[in-house]
Amino acid sequence: MSVQKVLDTIKEKGIEWVDFRFTDIGGKSHHLSVPAVEVEAETFETGVAFDGSSITGFRGIEESDMVMMPDTDSAFVDPFTAHPTLVLLCDIYTPDGVRYDRDPRSIAVKAEEYLKTTGLGTDAYFAPESEFFIFDDVRYESGMNKSFYEVDSEEAAWNTGRKEEGGNLAFKTGVKGGYFPVAPTDTQQDIRSEMCRLLQEAGLRIERHHHEVATAGQGEINFRFSTLTKTADNLQKYKYIVQNVARQYGKVATFMPKPLFGDNGSGMHVHQSIFNDGNPLFYEKGAYANLSQMAIYYIGGILHHAPSLIALTNPSTNSFKRLVPGYEAPVNLVFSKGNRSAAVRIPIAAVTPKGCRIEFRTPDSTANPYLAFAAMLLAGLDGIKNKIDPTALGYGPLDKNIYELSDEEKKEIRSVPGSLEEALDALEANHSFLTESGVFTEDFIANFIELKRAEAKAVAIRVHPHEYSLYFGV
Ligand code: GLN
Ligand code: MG
Ligand code: MG
Ligand code: MG
Repeated sequence: MSVQKVLDTIKEKGIEWVDFRFTDIGGKSHHLSVPAVEVEAETFETGVAFDGSSITGFRGIEESDMVMMPDTDSAFVDPFTAHPTLVLLCDIYTPDGVRYDRDPRSIAVKAEEYLKTTGLGTDAYFAPESEFFIFDDVRYESGMNKSFYEVDSEEAAWNTGRKEEGGNLAFKTGVKGGYFPVAPTDTQQDIRSEMCRLLQEAGLRIERHHHEVATAGQGEINFRFSTLTKTADNLQKYKYIVQNVARQYGKVATFMPKPLFGDNGSGMHVHQSIFNDGNPLFYEKGAYANLSQMAIYYIGGILHHAPSLIALTNPSTNSFKRLVPGYEAPVNLVFSKGNRSAAVRIPIAAVTPKGCRIEFRTPDSTANPYLAFAAMLLAGLDGIKNKIDPTALGYGPLDKNIYELSDEEKKEIRSVPGSLEEALDALEANHSFLTESGVFTEDFIANFIELKRAEAKAVAIRVHPHEYSLYFGV
């Protein structure tokens, strides 16, 4: 969309406010609003100033002036404001007019620019499947913000909107029973449909929505793939709309990877492929899973760098409570066609040459999409450049249910890191695949590790409810 088109839209739609947004390192959107009458062509050249010092992980107070530069292609009308508001997603620049090297969106843009310079392809396509839970918002009912982490699988049901304790259990799903009976078992059809309607109005192309496997209230909406930064933008719009529609229904939506112990968690599988001027490069008819050698090396890069990559695709302490056996979340660093227990799956149903892609199943939605997509692309490109052969390195293919392998067979397979600290150690030891292109700076990686170590420590020093059942009675 051109600047003129944005200005015309403001007039035609009676827009009163223009909301400028950016994403912080942790993946949260931040915004400030400017009266639409003050927004002119020049605004798109000068940008909008803000104080970067109060944003976690950004600049110190002594160098706090930052500039948001809007991307006109990202414009959408905010469906939730009483006063008509147009949202623009922004890159962050320093006052000297250079991209701020801790700005996640700028890192995503740089990753796309880097791909073009490698000569390996022109576009990388991404499609995330971001799962979420919709819970009753207990704040509306009891005036308190009850935490969900104390529940176990049996209790979970009673804390997720099924409050007829002791009542008739007809049409109530058990643990892992949510996929995907029709109503009245599925009570969230209309909420998801409303989310989709607003997502479509915001410009996303919706492919499907459905209830997910967990007992109650887990959902998923799939939107169409696009290029790297656009898809990350779409994911930020997606989260905003999902969470605010839930709020309109008096509920809360969460993308937390493992809100309920004992039931499936929420992942964000990421489908990815590389094209050259409209031609798919991952497809080769008749090869294993119809994958080209380039795609195999891309997988090699992802799996070889996975322990370090996971610090960016699963950057929360809670992420590692999802990455455990038995819940359709991957634990094993192998690739496979169709097999959902592998970290990398190659979808084989209803796939055309253009749709040929790999699916990395480890990520979850605590990932900042700009950073996670950029990091996955760089890992994959490193695999292609250095011909990292996943089979020679023992990463498969493995077309069996990995959860059911014997202990001997399992010994051969490497696992994902067991904790955020382990992933951060791996990132500290191995990140040249992220930095040598200049897409991520050393400063960014060091700052990211410091921020995330602080989060891990903050969780580790707190008393956990389960410690009471283990130790209270000693
Ligand atoms: N919820 C599962 C995960 O954590 C995925 C389930 C599915 O989409 N088949 O990854
Ligand atoms: Mg899915
Ligand atoms: Mg799913
Ligand atoms: Mg999937």
